[in-house]
Amino acid sequence: MSKICILDYTKEELSSIIKPSFRAKQIYEWIYKKYVDSFQEMKNLPKDLIEELNDKYHLEPLKIATIEESRDGSKKYLFELNDGKTVESVLLPMKKEKYDEDGKLLSLTRYTICISSQVGCKIGCSFCLTGKSGFLRNLTAGEITSQVLMIKKDNNIAENRRVNIVFMGMGEPLDNLDNVQKAVKIFSDPFGLSISPRRQTISTSGLSSQIKKLGDMNLGILLAISLHAVDDKLREQLMPINKAYNIESIINAVKKFPVDTRKRVMFEYLVIKDLNDDIKSAKKLVKLLHGIKAKVNLIFFNPHSGIDYKRPNVKDVLSFQDYLIKHGVLCTIRESKGLDISAACGQLKDRKEKEL
Ligand code: SAH
Ligand code: SF4
Repeated sequence: MSKICILDYTKEELSSIIKPSFRAKQIYEWIYKKYVDSFQEMKNLPKDLIEELNDKYHLEPLKIATIEESRDGSKKYLFELNDGKTVESVLLPMKKEKYDEDGKLLSLTRYTICISSQVGCKIGCSFCLTGKSGFLRNLTAGEITSQVLMIKKDNNIAENRRVNIVFMGMGEPLDNLDNVQKAVKIFSDPFGLSISPRRQTISTSGLSSQIKKLGDMNLGILLAISLHAVDDKLREQLMPINKAYNIESIINAVKKFPVDTRKRVMFEYLVIKDLNDDIKSAKKLVKLLHGIKAKVNLIFFNPHSGIDYKRPNVKDVLSFQDYLIKHGVLCTIRESKGLDISAACGQLKDRKEKEL
């Protein structure tokens, strides 16, 4: 009988399987807070339980295959799953630690970890390498949460350090909603990784009916919409899913989505030279977002071989941003972190496969 990955269980599920149920909390703390690699190290468990755990379960859904470090400090991980397939995650140090004049530490580095939810992706966006490689399978909850756990371990990030999670790696999280929902619960659990849902962002290509389902789950997470275009014709060209769920249906779903009063829905807009980088598009975007507590994140298209789209001019992206801000829409430009390590999703995996 093959062993089950114990990291696939939420604490509630584990409590119903392992008796007495308080053992589930202890096991959780060993895994997610004390970072142990084996059941033997779980010192407060009775011997017979350790034996039982060893017989039925395992603790290692992923192995680190490669790590690439960028000059700006971001680190890209390629993980190998137990069936040999691979996915990517990225550790992004957002702000450097700060010291005062006497060298006293004022604030610690803030980390964001970008994780994958599927091996490949069914959505097939024309600008995305993950989409080009097709879909292989969903990740389990344990394979999703382990990306964060392994990165925390590998970088000696203390269990209680605040990290942000973004589901912006490979895959469409809302196409794997059951496992993503479980992963969010494991992340949020005070005995698990203890990451507040308000520090977890789920990014979607806009599956409107799934956005509704996610909203009904009331997980308290943040929502990001990969919009990328303001009219349906161009959006269909970039993202074929727009034929099933057009812009209007997405905007309607977003308007009903429960948003924390202090937070906003993020709209990601991949800027591509001569396609969607003009002020007319900016104008339409302002109209589209009217009445939504939104924040726009402009992303420079990151060119890669096999795709004709071009990186936009900095000047045009700045004018686009300027227009939005002047018209009352919050707008940031995503730093091109890790460009030298092929930062956009699917790009490390693609290169590694070509090298092999
Ligand atoms: N499938 C979800 C979650 C993955 S996000 C979604 O699409 O929202 C993957 C992110 O990588 C998206 O924000 C996408 O815009 C970005 N991306 C994909 N290809 C890119 C490229 N060539 N350059 C820059 N960003 C890219
Ligand atoms: Fe899938 Fe997102 Fe890439 Fe589109 S951008 S193919 S939805 S991972």
